[in-house]
Amino acid sequence: MPRSFRIGSLFGIPIKLDLTFLLVLPLFAYLIGEQIEPVAGLLNDGLAAGIDVGAITAGTMPWLLGLAAAIGLFVGVVLHELGHSLTAQRYGFPIDSITLWLFGGIAALSEMPEDWRQELTIAIAGPIVSVLVGVGSYALFLAVPESLDGARFVLGYLAILNVVLAVFNMIPAFPMDGGRVLRAFLARSRPYATATQQAASIGKLLAVFMGLIGLMESSIIFIGVAFFVYIAASSEAQQVTMKAAFQDVTVGDIMTPASDLHTVEPETTVAALVQRMFTERHTGYPVIDTSAFEGERLVGLVTLTDAREIDPVERDAFTVDEVMTTDLRTIAPDSDAMTAIEEMRENDIGRLLVVEDGDLIGLISRSDVMTAFDIVQKSGAVNPSSQLRTAD
Ligand SMILES: [Zn+2]
Repeated sequence: MPRSFRIGSLFGIPIKLDLTFLLVLPLFAYLIGEQIEPVAGLLNDGLAAGIDVGAITAGTMPWLLGLAAAIGLFVGVVLHELGHSLTAQRYGFPIDSITLWLFGGIAALSEMPEDWRQELTIAIAGPIVSVLVGVGSYALFLAVPESLDGARFVLGYLAILNVVLAVFNMIPAFPMDGGRVLRAFLARSRPYATATQQAASIGKLLAVFMGLIGLMESSIIFIGVAFFVYIAASSEAQQVTMKAAFQDVTVGDIMTPASDLHTVEPETTVAALVQRMFTERHTGYPVIDTSAFEGERLVGLVTLTDAREIDPVERDAFTVDEVMTTDLRTIAPDSDAMTAIEEMRENDIGRLLVVEDGDLIGLISRSDVMTAFDIVQKSGAVNPSSQLRTAD
């Protein structure tokens, strides 16, 4: 079942709804409906709204207004994300989609700008749009006749909510907008990876702080946002660190070369394959057909997951070519190591075949990547040869 589905597109950018959003929309409608009286009082005091509270709390009115305000709020969130997206597009960064989920919106950039000026502009564009939406809602609020209490309530509330949204997003908790602004400023005077590390550390600290406030106020939403910020800060910091570590590293540098590869033949039984996996402690093998007339030929890749599809008692009756994957994901040896990592992550696979001129010359797996990353972090270089050169 897909986690999200497309509801349309704006400026060529697909707008998607995540399943978690369908939970949060009625919840927000309910919460706003519950608090209609205090909020109307606030609007009457703060904006001199002159709303007849009796008229908007009668019958099902609170729930209808709650739903209208909740939908309005999420329209505001989409516009906020469009602010980020259109600015990013102007700099030439493609946008995959805008997704509405549990905690609002996400604009998925396929690539992050490393130029601090571009990042600053993209990050700040969202909150600026939110302020403008707030101002627009306020203008409509003023324009609507006094007799339409419900419409004035929704517009007045949206005016406040959008400004609150802008201010909240400017909290410097990376990867929230304010945190990206902070990273952009930090990146002016230090390397991008260092700036990210520092912004992420501040983000995690603020996340812990937000979590504590959430616990004290017993606010589920605050705890949720804190949790999300913490996880997202850690993962983005790790990704940027990896990217910096692997800057000049190619797939060829860290792959397992073909000469060291363990391979199987298509006619090997699944039982024999599983036995080999046990003794060699490998979970993926390229399948090489050696009977081919023109010599060895790569015909597939077989993993433990493939083997597990066959019931243990029947594994003698099946051969590798019946369970192997023939839709092979390959990569060139001169590709960046980071490209290989992203390729594996996006397709949710554990290994890629390294192919040059149609020949299998190696295999790169997640464990190859992690080992290389460990070595880079400890020694500052990937291959022994380049270490020797610096020692000359
Ligand atoms: Zn934003």
